[in-house]
Amino acid sequence: MFKPKRVIFEKEAKNYPLGAHLYQLFSTNPQIEIFEVATNRVKTHIPGENLYQQYRSGKETLVVGIKKSLKFQSCKPSAHYQLPLVSGCMGQCEYCYLNTQLGDKPFVRIHVNIDDILKQAQNYTRERLPNITLFEGAATSDPVPVEPYTHALARCITYFGSQEYARFRFVSKYTDIDTLLDLPHHNHTEIRFSLNTDSIINAYEHHTASSKLRIEAASKLSSYGYPIGFIIAPVFIYPNWQEEYHDLLLNLKSKLPKKLSHPLIFEVISHRYTLRAKSRITEIFPHTNLPMNEDDRQFKYGQFGYGKYVYPKDELTQMKAFFTHILDDLFPYKEVKYII
Ligand code: SF4
Repeated sequence: MFKPKRVIFEKEAKNYPLGAHLYQLFSTNPQIEIFEVATNRVKTHIPGENLYQQYRSGKETLVVGIKKSLKFQSCKPSAHYQLPLVSGCMGQCEYCYLNTQLGDKPFVRIHVNIDDILKQAQNYTRERLPNITLFEGAATSDPVPVEPYTHALARCITYFGSQEYARFRFVSKYTDIDTLLDLPHHNHTEIRFSLNTDSIINAYEHHTASSKLRIEAASKLSSYGYPIGFIIAPVFIYPNWQEEYHDLLLNLKSKLPKKLSHPLIFEVISHRYTLRAKSRITEIFPHTNLPMNEDDRQFKYGQFGYGKYVYPKDELTQMKAFFTHILDDLFPYKEVKYII
């Protein structure tokens, strides 16, 4: 659960019941600094002399605001649209793609006008009838650590559970999911967990839940009938990598319910980086030992036009063969979306 050091309320947020509730909650806590500001003044209240400090202050800051533009971004290939409930994340994963997306002060921002957001989701769904429209709740955030404050995921899961032509999905590295268990989801929400070996989590995924807790949370959700999935990412090739990923998946198998109501979804993504990301990462994590040596990698143009450094072809082939074999061996009831 996110425990912010400072909470910044944008001017109109308190006019919404959730905004008023959060103001009451946070302003009575003497440990938390409170500000009320116009939208364009948020960053002035987040301290830091340089990128290193600004990053850490941003990660300790919660902004409570309103989603004004209700034009949803597309979210291919994961879904048709992003559902803009939250942006940012309390985690400090060194390789996080958000490091280059959220500016120098990467605060967590929640939107209190959830009804407006869901109404707009309904408009988008109507436009695509009779096709089903899929919404992604974690495109620019991890929405789970703020769920105990907002109950936004609970509202969305209940809403999508009542919709014949709309579906919802999100992914997390956190475990605040107990309030989601008993909801009428009607199999319309798919919840995925990002997983990695303990070596990788301990080295690079700062302030996130352990793999043990993520697996426990997934198992609980599965026993309440949710479709669940796992994004194994980023996969690194390092001494003992095969043994450790094997152990992780063996452990996953042993902790999940024996009878699954839905196939497990797997997505496996090898580590890759852009030079822009590398430069940002080395500024905010000056002692990082993330493997980012261009000599060890192969350059590849991505689908969005920028180039990235991926593992060389032989290593990728070996990795694909390894995961294909092990997933087939351990999880007969599954769907592997991709191994890339
Ligand atoms: Fe980024 Fe996910 Fe880590 Fe948050 S938990 S910092 S969104 S990789």
